[in-house]
Amino acid sequence: MRQNLKQVFIIGAGVSGCISARILAEAGFQVVILERRDHIAGNAYDYYQDNVLLHKYGPHLFHTNNEEVITFLQWFSEFFPYEHRVRGEILGKLVPIPFNFQSIDILFGSEQAAVLKSKLQEAYGLDAQIPIGRLLQSEDPVICELADFVNRYVFMGYTTKQWGISPDQVDRSVMERVPVRTSYDDRYFKDRFQMMPAEGYTAMFRRMLDHENIAIRLGCDAREFLKIEGNQLFFDGARMDGFVIYTGSMDELFEWRFGRLPYRSLRFVHEKHLKEKVLPVVQVNFPNRYSYTRISEFKLLQREKTENTILTYEYPIPCRDGDIPYYPIENQDNRKLYNQYAELAGKIPGLYCIGRLAEYRYYNMDQVIEKAMGLSKKIIEEEYTWETN
Ligand code: FAD
Ligand code: UDP
Repeated sequence: MRQNLKQVFIIGAGVSGCISARILAEAGFQVVILERRDHIAGNAYDYYQDNVLLHKYGPHLFHTNNEEVITFLQWFSEFFPYEHRVRGEILGKLVPIPFNFQSIDILFGSEQAAVLKSKLQEAYGLDAQIPIGRLLQSEDPVICELADFVNRYVFMGYTTKQWGISPDQVDRSVMERVPVRTSYDDRYFKDRFQMMPAEGYTAMFRRMLDHENIAIRLGCDAREFLKIEGNQLFFDGARMDGFVIYTGSMDELFEWRFGRLPYRSLRFVHEKHLKEKVLPVVQVNFPNRYSYTRISEFKLLQREKTENTILTYEYPIPCRDGDIPYYPIENQDNRKLYNQYAELAGKIPGLYCIGRLAEYRYYNMDQVIEKAMGLSKKIIEEEYTWETN
């Protein structure tokens, strides 16, 4: 291991911050993490309440096609196989989401269901995943009618609630996350690896940060220490010699110079029930009624044996001052605004911006992990080059 390497300040102890911290610490960097919240793990944070491991910020299911990602995580936690299944309440019935052949069987009479399934199979093949936008463009009137039905009962209400705007203003990629399936596959994700950390995310990230080269300061807003003057970074009044990996919002970093980057926020309500179990699966979506979008019962995920359970309701809300910016609202205008901030950041030597907030991308955890692994390796390589020159 090399000695006397530079110091790295990491802003945010979320997924991207924790991964970068460990890789850089292993390479000999002195890492200091500043986290505004009073806990690590960012939005993946989980904790025990009434013996149930709750996901404080909504359901976090781990899925990836990248073996390197899962191999890295397995250094810090055991995992158990878990394939997420979701039901949606459509016309009073609970049907699989993504909408699939079973959803058709439940919602339509057997003759009509047979016609619909064979039409879909003919048009798209078996086991295809078709975005609703593509299904709506079908020239077959029978498929078109089904597409209208799915659009109306699965997507319209949910998307309007979730984003607070009309679904036609929501970026196509958002709804493409939940395609229609021409099969009975009722798993929410199709990735090769689908699993959950045995003792939860917080325990896994705690182990990841348990390294002699890592110091963590919780409840610490980096804006109090980190200043940008011209193209220069200052930390606690002194010119920075090392690096900063920033995982917060870009508009905030530059004091909203070009305006606010729009986000969508959420309000979570955790409700205890004196019953062993309430839902048929971990997550039930409500596209067509209530002001919440979904209910999760995390107890079913960890398979805890307790007499009580906890339901978590998710209410989408506008992101105002003080609210957590959970979802970037991706569209061309917002990307343009983001790019202005990214351009400024790109001119500052030693500043690296990664993660769902700092890149303003609707990333899943595995994507953020890939990014953090890539960045850390790049920093290590650059340092080696710099040292040997
Ligand atoms: P974050 O987790 O947001 O971490 C950033 C951290 O930086 C935060 O802890 C924040 O407090 C801190 N910070 C920001 N500014 C400052 C500052 N100035 N000073 C100090 N600290 C600061 N992904 C999946 O793969 N599967 C799922 O099932 C899934 N479900 C999700 C459900 C919901 C409701 C949400 C919102 C997201 C979900 N995700 C899921 C996405 C996942 O949460 C993200 O990919 C991941 O958490 C991003 O990690 P990050 O480190 O980029 O950001
Ligand atoms: N969606 C929907 N109905 C559903 C589930 C999802 O309309 O029952 C749409 C909605 O626009 C949502 C998007 O698909 O924002 C992505 O859903 P996902 O479950 O991936 O959202 P996340 O878990 O990231 O909140």
